[in-house]
Amino acid sequence: MTSPLPGAPWLARQGQDLVLDGCSLADLGQRFGTPLYVYSRRAMQAALSAYQRALSGRPHLVCYAMKANSALAVLQTFAQAGCGFDIVSAGELERVIAAGGDPAKTVFSGVGKRRADMHRALEAGVLCFNVESEAELDVLSEVAVAASRTARVSLRVNPDVDAGTHPYISTGLKGNKFGIAHESAVAAYRHAASLPGLEVTGIDFHIGSQITQVAPYLDALDRMLDLVEAVEAHGIRVHHLDLGGGLGITYTDESPPGADELVSRLIERIDARGHGHRTLMFEPGRSLVGNAGVLVTEVLYLKPGEVKNFCIVDAAMNDLVRPAMYEAWMAIEPCRQRTEPTLRWDVVGPVCESGDWLGRDRDLAVQPGDRLAVLSAGAYGMVMASNYNSRPRAAEVMVDNGQATLIREREDVRSLFAGEHLLPPKSPRSP
Ligand SMILES: *Cc1c(COP(=O)(O)O)cnc(C)c1O
Repeated sequence: MTSPLPGAPWLARQGQDLVLDGCSLADLGQRFGTPLYVYSRRAMQAALSAYQRALSGRPHLVCYAMKANSALAVLQTFAQAGCGFDIVSAGELERVIAAGGDPAKTVFSGVGKRRADMHRALEAGVLCFNVESEAELDVLSEVAVAASRTARVSLRVNPDVDAGTHPYISTGLKGNKFGIAHESAVAAYRHAASLPGLEVTGIDFHIGSQITQVAPYLDALDRMLDLVEAVEAHGIRVHHLDLGGGLGITYTDESPPGADELVSRLIERIDARGHGHRTLMFEPGRSLVGNAGVLVTEVLYLKPGEVKNFCIVDAAMNDLVRPAMYEAWMAIEPCRQRTEPTLRWDVVGPVCESGDWLGRDRDLAVQPGDRLAVLSAGAYGMVMASNYNSRPRAAEVMVDNGQATLIREREDVRSLFAGEHLLPPKSPRSP
């Protein structure tokens, strides 16, 4: 019984069947229909506890970056394990509250917070705002003063380090829209400290996503600690260090450090530089949920050709956009293995776009009606799903030690145009 994917220990091939924590994915596809997202609760809990273990014994908070997968049952799983949340919108805040999460363990990130969002977050009592520009400091202070509250703030600094990842998911370089430039940061802290509605509490960075090495984190950390020292020299206390998210997972042959290794290496440096007394925060997204989930899809048609063989499945780019958007490689496994020889297929969806593919040049033995699983689909999968081509969004199931629970119903077709209006009938007098 071995996992077909390193880093996804809850996934196993048992006989012919691909099984996620005791549940056959072929059976789940049959029972709940396809396309179907399936997540392992224990895989998520294990991923979180790797961070928590490495941080135990010192003040810390892990804030799950919920944009990676914001299903209420996923948030509930993390909230019950003592996890906080990293949110990027007012909508995400409402999800945290609906799932039983604690706003007082929630940090509010994002470059474009609106006044109404800030007001709501203040009212809910979020732990801190991760502020991304000087202009945002002024607005946040105004909103806080008007609400007779104080906004705790951390400044997101842009350390200008190359995380060595895909340009679309790299965020810590000078040319990125994120954070306050390293050179301007001390001035921004002094400005923040002078504003009536704000209380400076911390500092944060987030340098990118799917990072597979420790080195960029250490570089960013060193630059951050330099800043902390400069800021405190001006009499402004920095209580917490938030080292962001971004740790990568295994999609194919990547071998990222484990969360415990990453955290230990960072702690070592923090202690060595005399900053060990500060509260440590992390904002992991992908590394908590990515390898915990799969997308199950059914083979509709096989279309062998001269140049390419196409395996047309019922999941598409609207269900899982990572391959189309980032040219991401995601493993595809039959849910029930056949013994026939394999052929080389492009696995594509029904959407009318050539970019609608889930995997290219995959060696598979498949027949129509078979189910396939796209692996490592727990992060940036369902959350990025759309209704393109008027396709209802997939259902979601959580498995836990052999038990499967439907956590989100498949969208129905009528809800696709709920809220739309036809134009009024033409009035007889108009030309
Ligand atoms: C997206 C994001 C994260 C999480 O990134 P992952 O790569 O999913 O770990 C953390 N912090 C901020 C501010 C983000 O925007």
